[in-house]
Amino acid sequence: MLGLMQDWPLLCHRIIEHAATIHGSQEVVTRSVEGPIVRTTYRQIHDRALKVSQKLTRDGIKLGDRVATIAWNTARHLEVWYGIMGIGAICHTVNPRLFPEQIAWIINHAQDRIVITDLTFVPILEKLADKLPSVERYVVLTDAAHMPQTTLKNAVAYESWIGEADGDFTWGTFDENTAAAMCYTSGTTGDPKGVLYSHRSNVLHALMANNRDSLGTSAADTMLPVVPLFHANSWGIAFSAPSMGTKLVMPGPKLDGASVYELLDTEKVTYTAGVPTVWLMLLQHMQAHNLKLPHLKMVVCGGSAMPRSMIQAFLDMGIGVRHAWGMTEMSPIGTLATLKPPFLDAAGDAKLDVLQTQGFPPFGVEMKITDDAGAKLPWDGKTFGRLKVSGPAVSKAYFKVDSNILDEEGFFDTGDVATVDEHGFMRITDRSKDVIKSGGEWISSIDLENLAVGHPAVAEAAVIGVYHPKWDERPLLIVQLKPGQTTTREDILKYMEGKIAKWWMPDDVAFVDGIPHTATGKILKTALRDQFKSYRFPNAAA
Ligand code: AMP
Repeated sequence: MLGLMQDWPLLCHRIIEHAATIHGSQEVVTRSVEGPIVRTTYRQIHDRALKVSQKLTRDGIKLGDRVATIAWNTARHLEVWYGIMGIGAICHTVNPRLFPEQIAWIINHAQDRIVITDLTFVPILEKLADKLPSVERYVVLTDAAHMPQTTLKNAVAYESWIGEADGDFTWGTFDENTAAAMCYTSGTTGDPKGVLYSHRSNVLHALMANNRDSLGTSAADTMLPVVPLFHANSWGIAFSAPSMGTKLVMPGPKLDGASVYELLDTEKVTYTAGVPTVWLMLLQHMQAHNLKLPHLKMVVCGGSAMPRSMIQAFLDMGIGVRHAWGMTEMSPIGTLATLKPPFLDAAGDAKLDVLQTQGFPPFGVEMKITDDAGAKLPWDGKTFGRLKVSGPAVSKAYFKVDSNILDEEGFFDTGDVATVDEHGFMRITDRSKDVIKSGGEWISSIDLENLAVGHPAVAEAAVIGVYHPKWDERPLLIVQLKPGQTTTREDILKYMEGKIAKWWMPDDVAFVDGIPHTATGKILKTALRDQFKSYRFPNAAA
């Protein structure tokens, strides 16, 4: 027997309709690409998104067609998202930090028909345009006054383009499993893979993100997503914030410490979200100028492991932290760390121990750890294995790739190595390809990196496994110092001594001017392995 409840498809545009109806005057504040701070509301975003839909329809875009955006976090970008998805077209967010050849590869693979871009990326696109045969027109997110002379095909300024629409348009109803958005994962090897989100998965993910132990913002909060819309949906904030009526502050192109601080301060932001590098820049700026953020309640940090020293620095300022883990294939939320029984009264180091884990999943994400043969491993907080996940907002296949990516229980292998404790707290110990295999035992590169960045002179640290004739591999610690700081190999190793098992201690420390990052802000270990490929440990005489 079926239930007798309404068949109400979970469609993304319903979120912005709700925001416009119930929270219509709530503000969305943007540091625009042109420079000035621009203030708009959910009502205006909704109305302009309808104009985007109307214009796309007139340009021949239909259900299932791909429209790319290459843009910063701005109100205009948000309007474009909802405008594309509202007609059942697929919003393909392209990461501008990728190499130009990868951008071209991705646009061709997705067969994008229209590219909607910020002014910043017009020069890159002009160089690539003759390699992008599927693109019929370029819309530049600016007004006629700021529109540059460009060779881009059928280029038009966004404001002029939507200025030709009256907004008399209605978003239809279609199957909630229709594709809504796509995002390519920036794998360090092989071709990028297209993750294809559905309306249903995005809406369910927004509900999961709204969970109080998750992102958990309310209509009384102000959220500043530093994490870009082109990186895993900006962790779903473009859906969760409007669904709750949370005020949004969009940082545009300026993500340095001073610019982020200025917006957090002047807009009285209560929640913010970004990768550790962003928070490192913010903390350095705040410490250098002795600044405070009295309104900020919560820093959500994910994408890479949040170092213990960073957690402590925020807690010392009276700011809460939520260490999060996830991935593009998970829409992206997987787990978040927050205190729950039996740790509610944890204090000092015990509290840091909990907050430093990657946390536990909200309802809607299931996880397991297995050995290489797929057998389940115990949740004892010690045994590490391959982390696999399942849920309604987790990928089951990649776009135009035929191979099966799920195991026989329907779980997706994240490529991460983790422990899980009896309370469901998960701790990432490594990417499976970065774990250091020393004499048959595993050493977690992430644990060593987290520890090393606690040294007062260290800005960033990376650990790679380097060939060792006796142990196969031993850890090499690569360090970038804070500006103006000096220290020695011995001093760093002394700092680490006693805080980890003796056999985990790095065999050497190398100092570098800069640590390379991927397009999504993670340490680019393949480049470091390449850089240090002829390195030999001083203690490694065969
Ligand atoms: P992406 O799809 O680009 O967001 O990358 C996802 C990957 O980033 C995960 O599979 C992890 O390897 C890594 N990652 C994300 N969050 C964390 C975290 N909090 N700690 C450690 N690694 C993380």
